[in-house]
Amino acid sequence: MIYHTRFKDDFRWEGIDVRGYKTGDTGFRDVSKQILFEGNDELQSEIRYFEILPAGFSSLEKHRHGHAVVIVRGSGMALVGERIYTIRPFDLVRVPGMTWHQFRAGADEPLGFICTVNCRRDRPVKPTQLDLDQLRQSAQVADFIRT
Ligand code: MN
Repeated sequence: MIYHTRFKDDFRWEGIDVRGYKTGDTGFRDVSKQILFEGNDELQSEIRYFEILPAGFSSLEKHRHGHAVVIVRGSGMALVGERIYTIRPFDLVRVPGMTWHQFRAGADEPLGFICTVNCRRDRPVKPTQLDLDQLRQSAQVADFIRT
């Protein structure tokens, strides 16, 4: 068991791999993932660091599990439900279960955030055409979302 991991420059940690965001999926651009803490029986949550390059975006998705997000780098915007928020370091974003969400980096700098989830969780659902039609009833949301 590793008790201490050193933070390095540029939002990397010693011995932690920078991986792709998701495999076999589409609907996102320029997102990387580092697993900071894998959960175990004693602490059944996983803490990840995601980074989205300028103009990149995470998947538009929902699922039964929730997310607790702490922004730590750069700036951008987040859709949660039907609202869009500007986000900057140390802002907190709560994503409840079954709520559409998507994160986008600003044009000039990467957006980095720490996201906590349950270890055991359901898979994300992507929007159907009907879901997209409903989301796009708000002009602001229509303008924001990327698929
Ligand atoms: Mn999610």
